[in-house]
Amino acid sequence: MNVLVVNAGSSSLKYQLFDTEKNLVKAKGVCERIGIDGKIVHKSADKEAYVAELPMPNHSVATSILVKTLTDPVYGCVSSMKEIEAVGHRIVHGGPYFSKSVLVDDEVISKLELCRDLAPLHTGPHLMGIHGCLEAMPGVPQVLVFDTAFHQTMPEEAYIYPVSYDMYEKYHVRRYGFHGTSHRYVSGEMIKLLDKPAEETRIITCHLGNGSSITAVKGGRVIDTSMGFTPLDGVTMGTRCGSIDPAIVPFIMEKEGYTPAQMNEYLNKKCGFLGVSGISSDCRDICEAMNKGDRRSSLALRLLCYEIKKYIGSYAAAMGGLDAIVFTAGIGENTPIVREMATDGLEFLGIKLDKDANNNVKRPITTTCLSAPDSKVKIYLIPTNEELVIANDTAEIVSAMKKA
Ligand code: ADP
Repeated sequence: MNVLVVNAGSSSLKYQLFDTEKNLVKAKGVCERIGIDGKIVHKSADKEAYVAELPMPNHSVATSILVKTLTDPVYGCVSSMKEIEAVGHRIVHGGPYFSKSVLVDDEVISKLELCRDLAPLHTGPHLMGIHGCLEAMPGVPQVLVFDTAFHQTMPEEAYIYPVSYDMYEKYHVRRYGFHGTSHRYVSGEMIKLLDKPAEETRIITCHLGNGSSITAVKGGRVIDTSMGFTPLDGVTMGTRCGSIDPAIVPFIMEKEGYTPAQMNEYLNKKCGFLGVSGISSDCRDICEAMNKGDRRSSLALRLLCYEIKKYIGSYAAAMGGLDAIVFTAGIGENTPIVREMATDGLEFLGIKLDKDANNNVKRPITTTCLSAPDSKVKIYLIPTNEELVIANDTAEIVSAMKKA
């Protein structure tokens, strides 16, 4: 099935066209500056790239342009719009309403509307993307795949925060968790590599990118995850602070005279690697500066690795043991020093990294075992593929719908 995977942001719309039977990306691209002026950058497999500045006043026009580009005789990859059989949308927040991927209908849209409050920066653009596709591709079934859905299996004690219970009842304040599509994909791949029944597996997945989260997956189901009510919680990130003493928030607000919105911006954009190092939010820059002797870049990296290590310890305890640790995403896949420092000294838990394997991962990166042969716990690098999960979920749901 040809599935168009869409990731709609406030002024951009990233897309990939998948052939799910052949497991192939036929084309990918992005519509940028929607609502400002408009630009499309498109590339079909084996064809020349197409870049054009075209007016895109809204997501509906942007979607029409991308469909036109996909069907273009020179730059496109399908002969008519009819060949786009389904659309799968990446949705950041499904709130407490969605525990799996769903086919879009009026009720689903109403429920997604309720998530605006929980993720205002993402939900509005997602809805514009969905409406844009409904208008530009009438009759083509659409599926929503949520970053939060995989985490909906957490037990109450993992998702309830110890604030007064009415905050949960009134405002749905709870841990949701994010990057669920990535954690689901890499834990699923890891389960296939373990020599035991899926329901007995205990895996920690470390999605370390610009945003990072760590998840405990027991028997294929999430029991805990480091991101929380928002993607600000958990380990230190590119520009996000991760978990801090909550009393720091009003303290800094008072000292600096920040409004709630300014404080939110500060915690999301000025902290993490950038805030600690004062140099960059990018792990490559941090590693480079550290290698040149920059003390605060070294501190930023040590801080992250120390936090990952603490999550590994606590999630191993929460699961009553551990079979595998998976590293994935930009930093997890590309930064051997992080994998080394995060697992260093954990031999007492049966975790032993093969440093040679860790430092010599072949490129292009594929699934690679990084644990020593005598390590009780397997350590793996598994490149994540969120778009593939979205495409496959979409194809599965739409095929089932067509059969029914
Ligand atoms: P996002 O969360 O935005 O999807 P990524 O998963 O791409 O981010 O991760 C971005 C981080 O990964 C950056 O800190 C960057 O330094 C690091 N990273 C990405 N690619 C590489 C690479 N090829 N080599 C080293 N680090 C990389």
